[in-house]
Amino acid sequence: MEGRKIIIEPERETPVVGEFDVLVGGGGPSGVSAALSAARKGAKVILLEQYGFLGGMATAGGVHMFHVTRTVKGIYKEVLEYLKKLGATDPILPFSEMIKYFFTSGRIKNLRKELVSLFRDGTFTDMVFKKRGTALQFHPDILKYVLSDLLLKEGIILRFHTFISDVVMEKNKIKALIVESKSGREAIMADVFIDATGDADIAALAGVPYTKGEDSDKNLQPMSLLFNLQRIGKNVKPILPPGCVQYRKDTDLPHEKIIITTTRGGRILVNLSRIGGDATNVEDLTNAEIEGMKQVLSIAHYLQTHGFEKCALISVAPQLGVRETRQIIGEYVLSEKDLLSGKTFNDVIAVGDYVIDIHHSEGRGFTQRTIPRYYIPYRCLVPKKVENLLVVGRCISATHIAMSSLRIMPICMAIGQAGGTAAALAVEKNQSPRTVDVKRLQDELKKDNALLS
Ligand SMILES: Cc1cc2nc3c(=O)[nH]c(=O)nc-3n(C[C@H](O)[C@H](O)[C@H](O)COP(=O)(O)OP(=O)(O)OC[C@H]3O[C@@H](n4cnc5c(N)ncnc54)[C@H](O)[C@@H]3O)c2cc1C
Repeated sequence: MEGRKIIIEPERETPVVGEFDVLVGGGGPSGVSAALSAARKGAKVILLEQYGFLGGMATAGGVHMFHVTRTVKGIYKEVLEYLKKLGATDPILPFSEMIKYFFTSGRIKNLRKELVSLFRDGTFTDMVFKKRGTALQFHPDILKYVLSDLLLKEGIILRFHTFISDVVMEKNKIKALIVESKSGREAIMADVFIDATGDADIAALAGVPYTKGEDSDKNLQPMSLLFNLQRIGKNVKPILPPGCVQYRKDTDLPHEKIIITTTRGGRILVNLSRIGGDATNVEDLTNAEIEGMKQVLSIAHYLQTHGFEKCALISVAPQLGVRETRQIIGEYVLSEKDLLSGKTFNDVIAVGDYVIDIHHSEGRGFTQRTIPRYYIPYRCLVPKKVENLLVVGRCISATHIAMSSLRIMPICMAIGQAGGTAAALAVEKNQSPRTVDVKRLQDELKKDNALLS
C-alpha cells in the first residue's frame, strides 16, 4: 500500500471470549471435517465462519455437486450418506442419458452440434462415470442443516457471522485470533489453530509464506458465479436487463466449454461465467461480483432463448465461486510431478484421483488431464514458520497445477479430516502439530474410514 495515507489506531483492550484446544477458522468442506475429527478425538473445538451457515463453496459458492472420486471415504462419505438418507441428493444424468433426454423429450429444440460436442469433451462424460461412479448434486440448504447438526452433536461451538481479521502472535506461535462481528472486536485463544479459510487468511496474517497462481503472483484460475435453472414444463419469459450482453452463439459465452450439469430432478447447475481477479483483494472481489451477476443474467437469457426455453432461473449463488488464491508454503510442496507419477509418501494422509483441472486465467481455454491415483503427505498441511497452525483444504502447500486437482470438495474433506485429527493428537501430547506421531495419525485416520492407499 505504498504511498497511501495511513492512520494510527489507538491501543485498545480486546476481550478474550473463549479458550479452546482447537480453533478452526472457516466452515467449508475442509473446516467442517477438521472440526468434526478434532472433536471426535476429544478436543474442545470452536469453528468460526463469516457467513450464517456452513458449507463454504458448497453452499455460499453454489457448488452443489461433489465431484466423483473413489479415493475418499471417512467424513465425506458420512455427509453423503446423511444427505442421501434425507433424500437430498439428485444424481446427475450421464452424458448419454442427457443427450437422449434432450433429444427425445423434445424439450430442448435448438440443442446444437456445438453444444453436444462440448458436453462430450467435458468432465461429465460416460467414460468418467464408468470409471469413478455417478456424480451427485445435493440440496444446498439441506447440506447447511446436515453440517451444523453433525458439528453440534459433537459439542463443537459454532460462531457464525464472525470474520477473522487478525492474529496475535507470541514468537512463532499464534496466541489468539482477533475476530469482528455484531458483538464487536473480540479475541479467541486456542492451543492449535486450523486454517480452513480456503484463502489461507490465518496463515497469511501469521506470516506464513505463500504463493499465488501459476507464476508466483499471477495467473490465478478465474472465478465463476454459479446459478441454477429448473425445468418447469412451460415456457419462461427471458429477461435481459439493461447493461447485460446479448450473446448470439455458444462461442460468445464467457466460458468456451459448456459446463452444465442436469439432474434427474430437472435442476440444471450452470457454471459458464468467467471472471478474472484476485479474490484476496477486496476491490477485485467487488468488481468480480458485479461482473459475475451481469454474466449470469446474460447467460441465463442466452440459454432460455437457445434450447432451455422451459427452464426458470431459480437461484444465483450468494457469492462468487473462488477456485484459487493463496497456497501456503509448507514442509512439502506437492507438485504436478508427484501427481503424474503417483509418488507415495511415508506421511500420506489423503489420496486423490480427480483430474488436473485448470481453467486458464487468460484467454478462454482450460486444461484437463487424467492422472493416476496420487498421495498427499501430512507435511503439506504443516506451514513454515508458525508452530501451532495447520492448514487444510484447497490452500495447502501445493503448486498451481497440483492444487487444480486436490481442490475438489471430497479431497478437501479428506485433508480436513487429517488436519483435525492431527490437531487433537498435538493437543493430547501438548506438542506442536509439526512433531505429531505420523504413524499414530495414520492409524487413527484408518480407524475412522479414511483411505490412505
Ligand atoms: C466454480 C467452481 C466450481 C467447482 N466445482 C466443483 C465440483 O463440481 N465438485 C467439487 O467437488 N468441487 C468443486 N469445486 C471446488 C470446491 O468447491 C472448493 O475448492 C472447495 O470447496 C474448497 O474447500 P475449502 O474448505 O478449502 O474452502 P471453502 O469451500 O472456500 O471454505 C472456506 C470457508 O471459510 C470461510 N472464511 C473464509 N475466510 C474467512 C475469514 N477471514 N473469517 C471467517 N470465515 C472465513 C468461508 O466463508 C468459507 O465458508 C468448484 C469450485 C469452484 C470455484
